[in-house]
Amino acid sequence: MPFTDAALTGLAPDGGLLVPERLPDLSGDLDHLANLSYADLAFEVFSLFISDIPPEDLRGLVDRAYSTFRHPDTAPSVRVQDRYILELFHGPTLAFKDMAMQFLAQFFEYELGRRGEELNILGSTSGDTGSAAIHGVKGKNGIRIFMMHPEGRTSPVQALQMTSVLDDNVFNLAIKGTFDDCQRIMKTLFADVPFKQRFHLGAVNSVNWVRVMAQIVYYIYSGLKVRKETGAEMVQFSVPTGNFGNILAGYYASRMGLPVSRLILATNENDILARFVQTGTYAGSQVSHTISPSMDIQVASNFERLLHVLLDEDGERVSSVMDEFSRSGVVDLSSLKSHPALELLRADRADTQETLEVIRKLRNIANYVLDPHTAVGVAVGDRLRNEDPLICLATAHPAKFVDALMEAVGEEPHHPVLDALEGAETRCDRLPADVEAVRNYLVAALEPSSPVGRG
Ligand SMILES: *Cc1c(COP(=O)(O)O)cnc(C)c1O
Repeated sequence: MPFTDAALTGLAPDGGLLVPERLPDLSGDLDHLANLSYADLAFEVFSLFISDIPPEDLRGLVDRAYSTFRHPDTAPSVRVQDRYILELFHGPTLAFKDMAMQFLAQFFEYELGRRGEELNILGSTSGDTGSAAIHGVKGKNGIRIFMMHPEGRTSPVQALQMTSVLDDNVFNLAIKGTFDDCQRIMKTLFADVPFKQRFHLGAVNSVNWVRVMAQIVYYIYSGLKVRKETGAEMVQFSVPTGNFGNILAGYYASRMGLPVSRLILATNENDILARFVQTGTYAGSQVSHTISPSMDIQVASNFERLLHVLLDEDGERVSSVMDEFSRSGVVDLSSLKSHPALELLRADRADTQETLEVIRKLRNIANYVLDPHTAVGVAVGDRLRNEDPLICLATAHPAKFVDALMEAVGEEPHHPVLDALEGAETRCDRLPADVEAVRNYLVAALEPSSPVGRG
């Protein structure tokens, strides 16, 4: 399947996830790549995967995507004591999802324009993904976004980041229910294929290959910079994980030739993935609500791509394992424990207590303030690291999580972007947690003759 088709579709025709047929090898080119700017490196890496966009067009998409970041390095690696913090939060919504979503939105606008098609994104969010998607596609041609969030159940900052976007192509829907209600409504509407086709509905969830591809870049960028600075041969990463999307990109970066000695997977109390890496058994349980809410996930949507690696790319076995898991809620894969991909991985969890302590410790000793997701990664990374330089991925700015920071250090964190939102005009429509209500809303907004449509 050509790149642009895969990127627009999201899923393979059989409902499974798409993976590249073959990974490019960068190992001979590391010295050259180590000297590139973020956008130059992104362009070089994307070019290895994309053959159906002319290079000058791709260059424009990359430049526009990363020009929205507030730091001259886009994603700087900051030394804090004996580790590096890779700051992925300098994009418009102050969370790492901007790193991929800014590019995905540029790509969508370009490709839809080229094909004369349009796309209506329907999504549901508990916080960061929705706001990164909205800030990506706002004001873009050929694309509208309908983003459901559970009313009153995201943090106030997260809700404001979404509802303060007033562009005509952005529709915020506050659903009177839970995040699970939003997910159920979305799945039901996507399962109605004639409806989906008639209204050109699409998704931007973390299983889209473009998002994984865009995330590979910052592992290479940071890994090569830290290697150069320290003179070390290998580096290791610690990644706070929910859906396995971010750390999967790290695995692909190592397969492409980045010298990585260890990939550390860190979870909060929702530790299904950590337990899997430790024991080989993948077993779901109840979701607990923690101070790192973007990792409050029990069924990781990108787990299927890890299985694809562990089962040596045997698509049929992958489907049968996924089926078994959805039937019984547990699969025993301990026979795969010696697979080289698992040898690279180490995993553990950090609970709320430990997370708060790490935030406090780094604030007091090093005057560096972590957000609670990043703190989970630092806690587990410090515990499971080897002697190589350790790079901890910082997935959000602390100012997004005021309550946790107040509890940890007793100081309210600030960021000018969030301060500016106070008292902002907002727009949001409220709907009951009911599939038909959302369906009718979409029809009213998208029927050409409809008075409700905003364009
Ligand atoms: C989404 C998110 C994560 C988890 O990333 P995955 O790709 O789902 O593993 C961690 N931290 C923050 C702040 C996030 O928004």
